[in-house]
Amino acid sequence: MTFGHFFLPGPTDVRAEVLAAQSGPMLPHRGADFETLFANIQRGLKLVLRTARPVYVSTSSATGLMEAAVRCAKPGPILSLVNGAFAERFADVARSCGRDVTVLEAKWGDIVPLEQLETALRSGSFAAVTVVHSETSTGALTPLPELAALCARHGALSLVDSVTGVAGAPVETDDWSLDFVFTGSQKALALPPGLAFGVASERYLATAHESPNRGRYFDVLEFEQYVHKNQTPNTPATSLLYAAETQLEAIARETLEARWQRHDDMADYTNRWLEETREALGVALCTQARPGERSPTVTCVALPPSIRGEDVVRETAARGFVIGGGYGKLKSTAFRIGHMGDHTLAGVANCLHAVRDALSSLRTRS
Ligand SMILES: *Cc1c(COP(=O)(O)O)cnc(C)c1O
Repeated sequence: MTFGHFFLPGPTDVRAEVLAAQSGPMLPHRGADFETLFANIQRGLKLVLRTARPVYVSTSSATGLMEAAVRCAKPGPILSLVNGAFAERFADVARSCGRDVTVLEAKWGDIVPLEQLETALRSGSFAAVTVVHSETSTGALTPLPELAALCARHGALSLVDSVTGVAGAPVETDDWSLDFVFTGSQKALALPPGLAFGVASERYLATAHESPNRGRYFDVLEFEQYVHKNQTPNTPATSLLYAAETQLEAIARETLEARWQRHDDMADYTNRWLEETREALGVALCTQARPGERSPTVTCVALPPSIRGEDVVRETAARGFVIGGGYGKLKSTAFRIGHMGDHTLAGVANCLHAVRDALSSLRTRS
């Protein structure tokens, strides 16, 4: 399939140039050539994450660094903001790491109000707060700056899943004082799956050694030690790093600001399409969030009872485009379009044309 037909909200479409970069030669990973490759990637990642801190490169999917964020955070109870499937996963990971977890819940599609967070932070003494920036199961976007400031004021670390935020939506790691933020290679970075990238603040690092069971593979202190040598603690996925080097150079050429704008444009286009299609086909936006609280990378579309998510995915595939079904408890009642990575407005328009056609045919049949 040529580029421009694959609109899952992860993994996302990868350009041929990036796929081809993976065929570079193997390298000793304790050597100068590798360190040069790694240093190039560092430069690109710092730009994308807007940080002066080093960026950890993990050979895992994003959930690996979700676990690292929790395991290495200073000891103590954790407050989890839950407004969708991935936020639920973050809370589960915290529980599975033996943490005492308190959940602040919002309806799926909504975001947890800051006032509720403040009340909870006041009444408890939390070591950390988990939050999902762009909730990929619903398309809701939680604004981070005030949230991170609130956490800091109450002495809690902010642990941020920005897996479908980074490289598609503004994430100002340093300016917003995020304590741990992570993403995966296969979302808005438009790389193949298999790598995760994360940044820990000085504040986070200063207390990480107090966490008794950091394990080994996801020990942030290990990542920190090796990243300064332009190395990884264990054998890196060198082929994927070649792809990352090529893609990060392309992102720098596009400029991050232009990339954010392109994602805004793709999301706006999809929202307008939905407005126009709503009457005729009975579809609606899954998220109740206001503009500014909608993800620029993924749109979740709620279906009328007569049409199932699986059927929309199948009928759209028959027209040459891959889209996502609903996720978690929205599996059959919604579908999702990942307008992220290297997609263009024209590409999104082509995809939505096929989706509309698929919806019409299902509507006629039902
Ligand atoms: C995709 C995704 C994850 C999980 O990533 P994996 O790479 O599959 O581990 C976590 N959080 C969000 C918001 C995601 O979109």
